[in-house]
Amino acid sequence: MVDLAVIGAGPAGITAAIYALRAGLSVAVCEKNVYGGQTSIIENIENYPGIEKISGFDFAEILFNQAKNFGAKFIFDEVNKVDLKSEIKKISFKNREPLETKTVVIANGLKRRLLGCKGEKEFAGRGVSYCATCDGAFFKDKKVAVVGGGNTALEDALYLANICSEVTLIVRKDHFRAENFLVNTVKNKENINICFESRIEEIIGDKKVEKIRVASQDSPETKDIDGVFIAIGYEPDNEIYRGQIEMTESGYFVADESCKTSAEGVYVAGDCRIKPFRQIATAVSDGAVAGSNASSFVISGSVK
Ligand SMILES: Cc1cc2nc3c(=O)[nH]c(=O)nc-3n(C[C@H](O)[C@H](O)[C@H](O)COP(=O)(O)OP(=O)(O)OC[C@H]3O[C@@H](n4cnc5c(N)ncnc54)[C@H](O)[C@@H]3O)c2cc1C
Repeated sequence: MVDLAVIGAGPAGITAAIYALRAGLSVAVCEKNVYGGQTSIIENIENYPGIEKISGFDFAEILFNQAKNFGAKFIFDEVNKVDLKSEIKKISFKNREPLETKTVVIANGLKRRLLGCKGEKEFAGRGVSYCATCDGAFFKDKKVAVVGGGNTALEDALYLANICSEVTLIVRKDHFRAENFLVNTVKNKENINICFESRIEEIIGDKKVEKIRVASQDSPETKDIDGVFIAIGYEPDNEIYRGQIEMTESGYFVADESCKTSAEGVYVAGDCRIKPFRQIATAVSDGAVAGSNASSFVISGSVK
């Protein structure tokens, strides 16, 4: 049994672990993918106070080493079931024995929103990608499409325009939802074609992506394309907690600045909870509060 189980090794989860470890708790951090969470795919972070510029990869590495050096035990496996109602809580995993814990900090971030068109799932990893910085280099001098109209889609389009021969930006609305300087840079980039009021109906290919069928206000068309980058945002991934912790209709955990949930001894931190602004700075802020409150809960002897 541990004092605290943290679910998610992103900035929020690792910060919660650091605060709890420094208060003397035993802490297990459970991660289904790579440590660092979303930060591991950020090309450069330039808005985190105290660090002028750092790659997401290096930032994730520092976070991980800091928690490890304080004594965090990392469990690399997916949490697929939880029992949070009893005094001693149980965390179950896909591939290993369950873990018992006195407190829990859920810091599981968000999951990528899927496009939902025909061919998306079949060609994931075979031409369909959700991360331009991770996969862009595979499409050198090729033709790609980027789907989305927000900051991430425009950043992806610009990043890919420097690698690929042609980038088609497919936007559902008749305008972008992005910062002005990005919009202007995209509009002035010669090898980016913008298709407003358009959506991909089908991704077509044999072993890998070869074409997309695009529906638009003009006539629907089939385009030859080698890769499709989907950048239409993120959504909560909190279904396994339903019925045990209060959530909003759209699936975010309900918790105020104290990060306390409706379940005693269970805290939430970072992008997974209801909040107005989702960034690394706000995730680590939550992590500090959640880790500190979990520590007080254990130290006060609330669990025998
Ligand atoms: C492309 C991109 C660029 C960004 N750029 C910036 C930026 O420049 N500056 C900035 O401040 N913010 C930026 N952000 C936002 C920032 O990365 C997030 O706000 C921050 O990472 C949230 O931290 P978190 O710990 O709440 O969640 P996450 O970073 O999402 O971490 C959650 C972790 O939980 C794990 N997890 C989920 N479910 C389970 C499970 N069932 N079992 C085990 N583990 C699980 C996930 O694998 C993940 O590692 C960017 C985000 C993206 C996608």
